[in-house]
Amino acid sequence: MIKKGLICGVSLSLLAGCTSFDRLLEEDGALVGSAHANKTAVPQMTDYDMDWNEFFNKAEDAGTEITSAEDEPEESANEEGQPEEPTDTDEPAEPAESVEPEAIPVVANPGAMNVMVNKFWSLPEGYRPGDLIKPNVPFSFGDENSDRSKLRAEAAESLEVMFQVAKGEGIELYARSGFRSYETQASIFKNEVATFGYEKAVLYVALPGTSEHQTGLAMDITAKSVGLELVEAFEGTAEGKWLSENAHHYGFILRYPKGKTNITGYAFEPWHFRYVGVEIAGEIYAKGITLEEYFGDVREF
Ligand SMILES: [Zn+2]
Repeated sequence: MIKKGLICGVSLSLLAGCTSFDRLLEEDGALVGSAHANKTAVPQMTDYDMDWNEFFNKAEDAGTEITSAEDEPEESANEEGQPEEPTDTDEPAEPAESVEPEAIPVVANPGAMNVMVNKFWSLPEGYRPGDLIKPNVPFSFGDENSDRSKLRAEAAESLEVMFQVAKGEGIELYARSGFRSYETQASIFKNEVATFGYEKAVLYVALPGTSEHQTGLAMDITAKSVGLELVEAFEGTAEGKWLSENAHHYGFILRYPKGKTNITGYAFEPWHFRYVGVEIAGEIYAKGITLEEYFGDVREF
């Protein structure tokens, strides 16, 4: 499994940019700031299921200036002339000229139910689970047989049970965004680079392979009480509360909890649930920890 001891050849010394961090979260919600030692510091977006251009324009309008950030392994840039060996430094490097994303370590177990994908671990290029199915649950976008309506079989079946039990208790849930392919991520990234240039694109778009949605084990869930949107206010709704208190019984964890941004690299996402299986989910819930902490692979931002 993924253990920090296996990590090598990667410079991951991070600066804690807490000040800009909080400011970004307050102002934009979707942006997270932190620093990547010898990498160009960039902010990052969450995995909001939103219109990318809309998001990008919004960030542009906000005049967001981030001097240090790096959340997903995705936004790192190749740095010509940099030494091969990892170098830890507290001084952010100059923006890279290269347009090729830096390689992120690839997980060895992409098909495992407990695979950990984050800003430091990516899925293989083109990885696509072979058992994606559409769960029989209500979707925010209606009846549509597309990637985003699918999950891997085990997760999909568990999601169905969870939704059914919730409904029996008067909690009406809607699935909004499930599987997201490597190609889709790559296309989004490529378009942003073509439109805005690499330096700006990496600020707002995840590098291909680093979205947990590519595992086929993550589903964004919402409710009519928040207009079927993915918003932080979901936390305070009956549906959001029900999920946060009960999802682990069905093998799902709240992947990006409040107050854990420095560990997950993501802003609080009360709608993003990740299937890891009942046993692990139960332990993570009971201990109030993250997947990173569960595996002992924590690198604070
Ligand atoms: Zn999500």
